[in-house]
Amino acid sequence: MINVENLTKKFNAITAVEDISFNIGESEIFAFLGPNGAGKTTTIRMLSTLIQPTSGEITIDGRTPSEGGEHIRSIIGLLTESPGMYEKISAFDNLNYYASFYNISREKKNDNIKKYLKMFGLWERKDDIAGTYSKGMKQKLALARALIHEPKILFLDEPTAGLDPESAHMVRGFIESLKKEKTTVFLCTHNLQEASSLSDRVCIIKRKIIRIASLEELRGDNQNKKIEIIFKEDALRYSKLLENIEGVKVLEINKNIASLIVENPFNTNPIILRKILDNGIDIVYFNEIKATLEDIYLDLIKDEEAK
Ligand code: ATP
Repeated sequence: MINVENLTKKFNAITAVEDISFNIGESEIFAFLGPNGAGKTTTIRMLSTLIQPTSGEITIDGRTPSEGGEHIRSIIGLLTESPGMYEKISAFDNLNYYASFYNISREKKNDNIKKYLKMFGLWERKDDIAGTYSKGMKQKLALARALIHEPKILFLDEPTAGLDPESAHMVRGFIESLKKEKTTVFLCTHNLQEASSLSDRVCIIKRKIIRIASLEELRGDNQNKKIEIIFKEDALRYSKLLENIEGVKVLEINKNIASLIVENPFNTNPIILRKILDNGIDIVYFNEIKATLEDIYLDLIKDEEAK
């Protein structure tokens, strides 16, 4: 659905995005992650035809922005970081107005306005002036606006920022449900828990692409694994024994818990277990702790900064 090749965007002396390439398929949720100023919003703005790239190619649903801009705009929905609404008219009228830009029947338009205002808990307040809405309510209204024409591709820049936990949970559930509708979701978020629970693949960017992969692939990249061992007695007694095992790189002890970073766990874990058992030491728990997306992200960004 989205094909990007060697895309670069410069703003005078600043290169916001440099030579990025990726493909995103139908019904894929693609999380686009990176630190502040990494070029995420700039990329969304190029993909949604709001600004032109300095160089490179974009193809969306088989069309380029220059020859198929109108088609692209008709099949995308966009939630920006600071979505503007007409503050002096009602929420209902805002959606009614935005929906009029799209080629959808009057019936469908009314159905969708009702559906999304109800879904986001705003139906009772539909006649209130949008300017009187709270920040989170405006965010939900903006999301309803992005969805009103049932787009095939949805660009979401921080969709749950400013939402209360219950609403954020509901919005995440909704994003997940879009898979069934075969909607492609391009998701920018600083919430890495959200990215890991929703996305099929993540792309980590800092002006250039650092890595594109599924979470499982990212976990597989790293040959070092975190192991947690809970001993029956204070783990400090066993620190020397553990430290001396080849492949144990880092050891932290907290009461009867030992946390280890282990190199090549396939070889090292059996050695650790054998040493423990041979020494007649009682353990209650031995487990590999899966790296979170946050662990992996922070490592990748740190490596990039060290270059
Ligand atoms: P954040 O997570 O903070 O929202 P981001 O990854 O979305 O950051 P962008 O907004 O894409 O980052 O900005 C990338 C870089 O491009 C920044 O250095 C920013 O200052 C610069 N930039 C973006 N838009 C413009 C513009 N219109 N004029 C000049 N520089 C710009």
